[in-house]
Amino acid sequence: MKVDVEPANFIEDFIVEDLESGRYHYVYTRFPPEPNGYLHVGHSKSLCINFGIKEKFRGRCNLRFDDTNPVKEDVEYVDSIKEDIRWLGFEWDRELYASDYFEQTFEYAVKLIKNGAAYVCDYSAEEIRLTRGTLNEPGKESPYRNRSAEENLELFYGMRDGKYPDGSKVLRAKIDMASPNINMRDPVLYRILRAHHHRTGDKWCIYPMYDFAHPIGDALDGVTHSICTLEFEDHRPLYDWVTAQCGFEMPPRQIEFARLNIKNTIMSKRYLKKLVDTGFVSGWNDPRMPTISGMRERGYPPEAIKEFCARVGVAKANSEVDPSLLEFCVRERLNLTADRAMVVEDPLEVMIDNLADDEAREFDVINNPNNEDSGTHKVVLRKKIYIDSSDFSLDPPPKYKRLTEGGTVRLKGAYILRHVATELNPDGSVKRLRCEYIEDSQQGGANAGMKVKGTVQWVSAGDAADVALYKYESLLVDAKDGVTDFNERLNPDSLKVVRGAKAEPFALEKEPGTAFQFMRMAYYKYAGAEADGVPKFYRIVELKDSYNKK
Ligand code: ATP
Ligand code: MG
Repeated sequence: MKVDVEPANFIEDFIVEDLESGRYHYVYTRFPPEPNGYLHVGHSKSLCINFGIKEKFRGRCNLRFDDTNPVKEDVEYVDSIKEDIRWLGFEWDRELYASDYFEQTFEYAVKLIKNGAAYVCDYSAEEIRLTRGTLNEPGKESPYRNRSAEENLELFYGMRDGKYPDGSKVLRAKIDMASPNINMRDPVLYRILRAHHHRTGDKWCIYPMYDFAHPIGDALDGVTHSICTLEFEDHRPLYDWVTAQCGFEMPPRQIEFARLNIKNTIMSKRYLKKLVDTGFVSGWNDPRMPTISGMRERGYPPEAIKEFCARVGVAKANSEVDPSLLEFCVRERLNLTADRAMVVEDPLEVMIDNLADDEAREFDVINNPNNEDSGTHKVVLRKKIYIDSSDFSLDPPPKYKRLTEGGTVRLKGAYILRHVATELNPDGSVKRLRCEYIEDSQQGGANAGMKVKGTVQWVSAGDAADVALYKYESLLVDAKDGVTDFNERLNPDSLKVVRGAKAEPFALEKEPGTAFQFMRMAYYKYAGAEADGVPKFYRIVELKDSYNKK
């Protein structure tokens, strides 16, 4: 079959090759999470690959939960995984669970026993480990290896029927204890484990190992390309051995790619769970977490995460990506979608002397200059306004582009302002500025062309709302002096909350969840109200790349 698709990476090269050679006549992938935690940004790469292939090759992609380890798994995780995948914009064809196949998986194990390809071994986990050999030395054959098929069958049924204590027996594949690949040295296929399973309850006291259940699940589902991360490369011979021994006619092809690693970013569910359990973060969806739900809570658009995965690409060699690339993608997306709003973080009072107490001047400002459809909203200038205290200096450094004594500056969207006088506090700090606006200096006015030092954001005191700004930083600080342990790299300043900032009313008119560009500050998400009713905003990403700034 001739394929009219341009492959974008080596995985797609293989797929084209397999379609053209007739090995498969269609493309079927799957995303196989273990429901033992929430999905993180690394999973989004696997999602993009598997669902991307589905779209590109007009194939199918399943969501299959690898729920073979009941001790760590939970429905909370199943639900969150589904929500996160949908939020990213992917649709699976079928929702499946490895546990749906426990009965069939058991029957395949019986088949292997009958074919002399599996045996029950009475070794403990420790004995198995000690006899497995090393990279340089072959393993030792188990004394139970040559049990007859009849004896093995009886023991295996006995295992299922609960005759033996946990850990007292296992079912092992009979392959080759001298294989240079340690995974092929009679790996364990089934273990005895009395644990409640979130789907099958207490029906089973034996559970298949991942290496056995996974290829069987793939094959039964009709998966053609089983895409996984590089650490499974050495498991591929076992994967192929299992599908061959089970007798599948069109076995799936396993293809490995390099996992996504991001500098200063934790991508182990086990460790992320620890941050949740110890209370270092507020939950799996804490805005600092590199989980998909955390990024959603933070205000990252799903398109930005997908764009990031596309830019990282698919490679066969492990590498580490800088987090600034993800931030770049977030910023690029928000620049097109987020309305601009004015917020003053550290308010400095300014009285406009030539406006009367009850006077108000209205101006229309464009919500987003990068989006023609975004419309406009009104800002109202009154006598008492706030600008940011960093936008005025009594003793300006060279090239200072903001307000100085006697200087002028444009109030964003409104008039040009001229400084008249400065009132000081007893300690010498600035208490209040007195200024006057310049008549007809608004956009299009006769004096609009006057040269000014810069443009600053402002809010009118009477209209502005007090808001809290949540400023997030990386959860981990750089690894230095050989300290790589996450526990010693946790950033104690990963969240700073600034209170008393003043926001223009427009920032509060939209639904919680809306992202804004707070002009000259950063992108922020309106995150509803704090317990005392004060509106809060989460900093999504800064306006400029802090990586380049450093
Ligand atoms: P963790 O080590 O965090 O528990 P995992 O690999 O055990 O991760 P799974 O639930 O088994 O997590 O992963 C589901 C799919 O996502 C697998 O196919 C896995 O290869 C892929 N995946 C997990 N982490 C990454 C990553 N960092 N980059 C790319 N793919 C990943
Ligand atoms: Mg895993």
